[in-house]
Amino acid sequence: MENQVQPENITNQLLNVFNYAFVESAPYSFFVPKKEKYVAVHVTKKICTCLACTKQIEVKYHEAGVVYFSKERFEKQRAVYEKKGLPFLDEKDLQAEKEFIYQETGYCERCAPQLLLTGDVKQKIYNICQEIHKEDEILLVKAKVCMEEQLKKWLKTIPNSSQIKQYDLSNYNGLKDLVCAAILDDTTDVGNCLTSYKNKIGKMIADTEQLLRTMPDKWSIYAARSTAIYESMSDELYHEYTVVFPEENTIPQDFFINRVIEKIRIEMFLKQSRVSSVEQLMLEVGFETAWLDLLIDHIATFEK
Ligand SMILES: [Zn+2]
Repeated sequence: MENQVQPENITNQLLNVFNYAFVESAPYSFFVPKKEKYVAVHVTKKICTCLACTKQIEVKYHEAGVVYFSKERFEKQRAVYEKKGLPFLDEKDLQAEKEFIYQETGYCERCAPQLLLTGDVKQKIYNICQEIHKEDEILLVKAKVCMEEQLKKWLKTIPNSSQIKQYDLSNYNGLKDLVCAAILDDTTDVGNCLTSYKNKIGKMIADTEQLLRTMPDKWSIYAARSTAIYESMSDELYHEYTVVFPEENTIPQDFFINRVIEKIRIEMFLKQSRVSSVEQLMLEVGFETAWLDLLIDHIATFEK
């Protein structure tokens, strides 16, 4: 588990690909925004309004000067404001950097699950991918619990120091080696976790691939976006000028917004390599310093 070089972090890569396919689709590019294409706006917060229950979620933005909206995105905001009967920014307001509230409509966390559970294949493909993504993330959590339980079980079988004499328990590496040996002593539960994950996602991936066959290159659906992550006010490209960040203390909540997803990116997400062996899974989980505490606490009981 230790002293091994990690060639890549599978779970991080999966998260990146998931975000690329379903969350922030604009590729990064560095350029200076031109006046013909962008509008500089002093945006202070976002209000997400649920189309079903009318609940409003307010997201305060971390303010760092003006943000550049692509003209297209700016015009979309104008349409939203008009629909709501709210006064929109005019040239003078823009010049004066008048505070602006970004209006988002979609579905809240509570309404989305019922409303988006439709027989509609377009939405269904996204829903399954979101489930796969959750499984990818939960696997690590479950494996970590199994590893910790195994350590606790193993410690119970060690009533005194005679069985662990070969480890130098006076230094960090010695303690760490012992924790790893204890966890590796029985990997049945971690293995079971992995098997059930593989069975579950194997079926979900196969189902999605089947559904994708008849789909066009791109289509629109409602996809979750956390209120706590950054956002680009330009759909084509993003860079430091177009990005807004929520304030650090923002509580993450999923808000489902209408967006376009692409078949090629979904396929990329499905084909991305996933954890396939117990060794890989343990490497992904990594080492928890809390495990050292469990060992140290146990050793303390010897000396009494
Ligand atoms: Zn709602």
